[in-house]
Parts: sequence; structure tokens; C-alpha cells
Amino acid sequence: VATATAQPSTSLDDLFITVKTTRGFHHTRLDLILKTWFTLARQQTWFFTDVEDEEYQRKTGGHLINTNCSASHNRRALCCKMAAEFDAFLQSDKRWWCHFDDDNYVNVGQLVTTLADYDPLHDWYLGKPSIRAPLEIINRDNVSQRISFWFATGGAGFCISRSLALKMMPIAGGGKFISVGEKIRLPDDVTMGYIIEHLLRKKLTVVDEFHSHLEPMRLLNTDSLDRQVSFSYSQYGTEMNVLPLDGLDPRLDPTRLLSLHCKLFPNFSYCSA
Ligand code: UDP
Ligand code: MN
Repeated sequence: VATATAQPSTSLDDLFITVKTTRGFHHTRLDLILKTWFTLARQQTWFFTDVEDEEYQRKTGGHLINTNCSASHNRRALCCKMAAEFDAFLQSDKRWWCHFDDDNYVNVGQLVTTLADYDPLHDWYLGKPSIRAPLEIINRDNVSQRISFWFATGGAGFCISRSLALKMMPIAGGGKFISVGEKIRLPDDVTMGYIIEHLLRKKLTVVDEFHSHLEPMRLLNTDSLDRQVSFSYSQYGTEMNVLPLDGLDPRLDPTRLLSLHCKLFPNFSYCSA
């Protein structure tokens, strides 16, 4: 009897979620993640920081990784953390790696639903560019040439299938990601695009439901928040770039992420306050 062998469906446990953070943001940013979406993916989410921190080691259930990378916002330090995230994924047995910044809210269920549309045995680089055209840079191997490629903005999050990660391994594994970043002298998310699109000739697949604070959060349709994968927030001077949500008092919830979490999951204790 001929039977169709169904592709095993994607579940949360197929994911390895990494969050880049730094010592100065444990209190201000990790607390918000720990109160909200981390509760839905405690086993799958790991935080990559630059210091030992007993309090947050405990709060994350032992999921805080000290990369020993420098605690500064320079290219080398950021590539060092991305390298640690990538290598940790390679050492895991998970089908998908998803990177986020510590100012992201991840809609965990929708992330899993989104990934279910793609086969992790194929090569997938999923995310969202923050620029309208591919990035054009000088080819450092031949400065008379220009090369162009797309990259997924790190601040919106991106996901890479195991199949693709294995192809990246000879170029970027074992800390080599840092050397690639040094060579092209560009940020970690750009380096990722360079490796995947330029060196490996694999295409970024744009997933519009990833959002960074480079987009105006007020323009997101609040009726479709449950279908979005990631959100963010930021402050430029006194101007806040946040979701236009009713909900908790802005003094308690300046980023609106608690209110977002309450809209998606009304049963959390602080939601009825
Ligand atoms: N970050 C870091 N080290 C630093 C500064 C920032 O690892 O010295 C991380 C931070 O935790 C976040 C990401 O880099 O996950 C982006 O930082 P931020 O949101 O402050 O800046 P942006 O690039 O979004 O303006
Ligand atoms: Mn940010």
C-alpha cells in the first residue's frame, strides 16, 4: 500500500533561539523578555552576554552564556557574540537557529508557525532587510570590483536552517565568523548576509513579519499583531518608537511590550492590573 510519508511538522523544540545582550542591558532589557515571551520558550532560548551574572543565570534557568567577548558596541565585539551564537547552534541538535536582539519581542507561536512552511533540510536564510536595495560594497579581494548582497537586519531577528548552517560551517564555524567580519569591516548582520548571499550564493528569503525598530512601530496594523513574528522598540531623544497599543500605563510599560504580551496572552498575572 502506497502511503505518503508526511514531513514531520515543526515544533518549538526544533528551535535554537539566541538573544544577543550585554551586561548593561540585563536589568533594563532581559527582565522584560523574562517576564514575557521567554516564559513560552524557556528551554529553547539562550542569552549571549559578556559577563558572569549569577542573578540572571538563575532567572534564565541557566541559559545565560558568557561569551567572554568584549562589552562594547564595536564590530569585533558584536561579531564575537554572533560567532558564539552560531557555534552554539552547530553544537545543538536543533533544526533551526533564530537570532534576536535583546530589544526584540518574539511571538514564539507565530515564529514556529512561520518556520513550519520551510523544510530545514533545505537551505533557508529567513529575515527582513532594512534597506530598499542590496548593499553594495567594495570587494576586498579585488578592490576594482563591487559586490552586492542582501542581509537580514539583526535587530528584526533572522532564522537559518541547519542545512544552511552546515554549509556555512567551513567559512564561519569555530569562531571564523569573526575573521570574516574583520575582513569586510562590516557589522555582524551584514557579515551574515555576505557569507550566505555572496560567498555561498544562497538567497535571503524576506519574511515581512519580522520587525526591527528601524521601522516605525506606530505603522504596524494592531489588528494583525498575532500574525507578526517579532517586534522591537527604541527611543530617539524624547521620541519613542513603540507599538501604538492601549493597555498598561505607559509609566509601567514604556516599551509597550508588556501590553503587547497581554494582548496576545491576556491571562498573565500583570495583565489585569
Ligand atoms: N549590544 C552588545 N554590546 C554592546 C551594545 C549592544 O552586545 O556594547 C547588543 C544589544 O544587547 C542588542 C544589540 O547589540 O542585542 C543591538 O544593540 P542596541 O539595541 O543598543 O543598538 P541598535 O544597533 O539597535 O541601535
Ligand atoms: Mn536595538
